[in-house]
Amino acid sequence: MAVPRVLPDSSRTGMKINFIDLKAQYKAYETEIDQAVKAVLHSGQFIGGPSLVTLENKLSEYTGAAHAVGCSSGTDALLLSLMALGIGPGDEVITSPFTFIATAGAISLSGARTVFVDIDEATYNIDTSQIENAINEHTKVIMPVSLYGRCADMEAINTIASSYNLPVIEDACQSFGAGYKGAKSCNLSTIGCTSFYPSKPLGCYGDGGAVFTSDDAIAPKIKMLLNHGQSKFHHCKRIGINGRLDAVQAAILNVKLCHFDDEVRVRQLIAERYDDLLNDIDVITPAKDPDHDCVYAQYSIRVKERKAVISRLNDAGVPYAIHYPVPLHLQEAFHSLGYQTGDFPVAETVSHEILSLPISRFLTTAQQDYVVNTIKG
Ligand SMILES: *Cc1c(COP(=O)(O)O)cnc(C)c1O
Repeated sequence: MAVPRVLPDSSRTGMKINFIDLKAQYKAYETEIDQAVKAVLHSGQFIGGPSLVTLENKLSEYTGAAHAVGCSSGTDALLLSLMALGIGPGDEVITSPFTFIATAGAISLSGARTVFVDIDEATYNIDTSQIENAINEHTKVIMPVSLYGRCADMEAINTIASSYNLPVIEDACQSFGAGYKGAKSCNLSTIGCTSFYPSKPLGCYGDGGAVFTSDDAIAPKIKMLLNHGQSKFHHCKRIGINGRLDAVQAAILNVKLCHFDDEVRVRQLIAERYDDLLNDIDVITPAKDPDHDCVYAQYSIRVKERKAVISRLNDAGVPYAIHYPVPLHLQEAFHSLGYQTGDFPVAETVSHEILSLPISRFLTTAQQDYVVNTIKG
């Protein structure tokens, strides 16, 4: 098929588009960030300290969770949560096969077995109507993922979990700031875990994450486990990990958190504009629901002719991403779980059609028009 060619000549079109514009974001907050980082450098305290205390207080206030504990990454947040709940070999954890590898990776690292449940075709989050079929006497945790910045159906999940007396860990690595029925992501279940990886809705300048809980018994366990399981210095109660958040990252996050709600509002406007601009062609835009306030970690559409669209995007120099091309049950690393093609048909279909478009607080309307016109061809 002949595809109309647009030269990716950014000097001529002025259309150098970044998938997520972290450079523009730094420029916008440069003075504040530089000051905050310098203050840490001059303090000589690089682990813990006032920037971390401030951040944890702000995160707790922002989400409404009684406790927020900074840690080294979203993956470690998930692993620490499983460890704090005492999950290990012989246990099963239920999650979605349509997510980033780290969700099931953390379950495997804890020693437990991952049990996948297919996703809902409209929201791409775990299909709550299929969860009960997967519960057995080994099930210890339900771990839904709030994909692309939209919360999983936490109310339905919590109802199922409480009838089986199971804790729920929300993988909120993409959904910090998202709203669900008047509450905030990370504070919707027993434990919430988020990531501050640079490209996440709230990102730092390296790796980082946080664990949220309102359970007064869990929070101190997380704090102990992320510091080698030490109950006091050089006295270790359990085997833990080095899972701390750096002071420099905490300082950067303190600055970015002040601008976060503004960023989310603009991202939502950009997402709505994509919805409008794309409504006359045969693509599926993200589901809308008044109960959900999505932070659009990704703006992902479904296109039947993905190959042709990608070829046009490549030719026009428009960045895109596929979240995710291979569902986790078909990944080599999870081969031993014994799943095969056809086990989770919705996840498999969506993985062939999904396509994430550039989105950030700093995407201009001209850039967005260029993306949409390229998709339309
Ligand atoms: C990014 C991500 C993680 C892992 O977070 P890191 O900070 O990169 O370790 C886990 N789950 C989901 C759904 C993610 O998007």
